[in-house]
Parts: sequence; structure tokens; C-alpha cells
Amino acid sequence: MVSPRLLESNDETLFLEVRSSTNPKIWYDVMYDKVHHWLCTCPDYYFRKRFCKHMRECAEVFGISDTIVYAEVC
Ligand SMILES: [Zn+2]
Repeated sequence: MVSPRLLESNDETLFLEVRSSTNPKIWYDVMYDKVHHWLCTCPDYYFRKRFCKHMRECAEVFGISDTIVYAEVC
């Protein structure tokens, strides 16, 4: 498993990048903040609007227990 890369962070938002497990050339952008919760650019999230494995990896690495995704709050 490849660790998520932290691209940028400020007080409110984390911008991360997680490599695809099926295609190592693909990186997905993952964003997290307390207002909008999780967002990912992968097809799993895009089509199913669920807490995807990229979010899970980021949550584990950064110790975030929140599993709400953006689609659930807007
Ligand atoms: Zn994802």
C-alpha cells in the first residue's frame, strides 16, 4: 500500500494524493475538511458516492475518524 502524499494543508483543509492500486500511473486527489468532509476524484466515489479506499488510507494516516463523504452533506 502506498502512503497518501500530502500536497497542501491549511487550518481547515487537507489536499492529498493517493496512487491507484490498479494503475500506478494514476493518482487520485483526495480532499478533506470538516465542513465538506471527504471528496475524491476516483470512479468509485464518483459513481457510488461512498467512502472509498483512498479516503480510508488518508483517514488512517492522518487519524481522522470522520467517514462522511461530500455527497452526503450537499
Ligand atoms: Zn477514491
